[in-house]
Amino acid sequence: MKILLASSEVFPFSKTGGLADMVGALARALAKAGHEARVVTPLYRGIREKFPAMRRVDWHFDLPLGLKYVQAELWELDLERGLKIYFIDHPGYYDRAGIYLENNLSYADNAERYIFLSKCVVHLARYLPWRADVVHVHDWQVALVPALIAQQKSEGWGNPPRTCLTIHNLAYQGVFPEDAFMLTNLPDSIFNTEGAEFFGLLNCLKAGIAYADFITTVSPRYAREITTEEFGCGLDGILRRRQKDLVGILNGVDYSEWNTTKNPHLVKPYSIGRMAGKKTNKLALQKELGLPADESTPLFGTISRLAEQKGVDIQLGALAEMLNTNMQFMLLGSGSPEYERGYRDLSRHFPRKVAVRFGYNETLAHRIEAGCDFFLMPSRFEPCGLNQMYSLRYGTIPIVRAVGGLDDSVVDWTENAQLATGIKFDEYSSRSLAKAIRKALVLFNQPKLFLVCRRSAMRADFSWDRTVHEYINAYQSGIQ
Ligand code: ADP
Repeated sequence: MKILLASSEVFPFSKTGGLADMVGALARALAKAGHEARVVTPLYRGIREKFPAMRRVDWHFDLPLGLKYVQAELWELDLERGLKIYFIDHPGYYDRAGIYLENNLSYADNAERYIFLSKCVVHLARYLPWRADVVHVHDWQVALVPALIAQQKSEGWGNPPRTCLTIHNLAYQGVFPEDAFMLTNLPDSIFNTEGAEFFGLLNCLKAGIAYADFITTVSPRYAREITTEEFGCGLDGILRRRQKDLVGILNGVDYSEWNTTKNPHLVKPYSIGRMAGKKTNKLALQKELGLPADESTPLFGTISRLAEQKGVDIQLGALAEMLNTNMQFMLLGSGSPEYERGYRDLSRHFPRKVAVRFGYNETLAHRIEAGCDFFLMPSRFEPCGLNQMYSLRYGTIPIVRAVGGLDDSVVDWTENAQLATGIKFDEYSSRSLAKAIRKALVLFNQPKLFLVCRRSAMRADFSWDRTVHEYINAYQSGIQ
């Protein structure tokens, strides 16, 4: 099949979270499975310098955006057999210090930046000599693509590609004042409660849900959750109406990036059969982050965007209670200054037990996954979550709230004592999380059992080779 993917971030070119990892890995997996995948994404600052093999394409965009016309150039990079990346080059929109925001403030013209990107995607789908069978768009930034394609179809585009929307996180919908709708140049008939309108505002994700031929989200449990009022973020009604075209497919992991045997970020490689290296990584990590290097102290870690979704409030509460026991905790995160302050206070309070690092650091992320004994992910909701799957492969036992993809990817003792890979809790409270941490401490003190659990975790297979077929089925049949 020929699949044109579109995303506002794609690893290794740009990344703020799991979206980038997923799109990069899915594209590779599609190519590896013998399909042709091409990905459209913005040319953000610094990408061209890092990937000098990219070439300018003889192609010029001149597209209507409200009352004006906007121009852009196109660059391409052949990543591997069957996989090409297209970069939209508009310096005014994309050559900036941040991707979506700077100094914690979203760019004021995000609607314009991503409506333009969506229009470029549609233009390529329609006019490239390479004709896609499916256009697969990810999240709100490109969620207007299906509506734009449907509109062009009604105006005479014969036989356009089918459209698939993947929802990576329903909490981010791309909601803008009504004026922004004008930038789409779509007819007013689309701006209604069954389409792009949400209480008088433009809602890009909702338009995608209304107009995509089929919809996927990133775990089976999240696919069920988002049709309920509790997790539906105001869109559960329209999602229920589209339920027969909605499927949950658990994200895979790119094990060529996230592994413990050939990983330039790690101090020492290790594997199921040779676990000694994990200890070396733990001691090195404790040293690197300025905590007492001690193998016998259980080490907990978190890598996260510091957003409400991630359960920061219950984590701070549980840690304040549990840090009086013999344990250490480290955090790598970035996001809300208020949450950063919470963790900074915690580390001041427990200077020999808590280490925090703010900002984005890929190397440290790998080292924390490898060096810790336990990984905490107490999310309020979690569409899929990748870090817990990385933890599993690194033999670092995840402690997760049983929601969304966390529930789908971790096996608790109570579910299967032989195959348990982690610890789950249900109630969203510091008390429940503290109880789960207590269970972890008990496990840590039973080295044999702990090793069995680690080995089960490391054996769990979330490779894309397994999941990519589910996407192919969805592309081919519309829905499984
Ligand atoms: P989300 O997409 O909601 O942020 P995921 O668990 O799906 O959560 O994916 C997060 C991805 O971002 C992982 O690859 C994780 O390692 C990475 N990540 C998050 N915060 C940081 C950070 N501060 N430094 C480095 N990597 C980070």
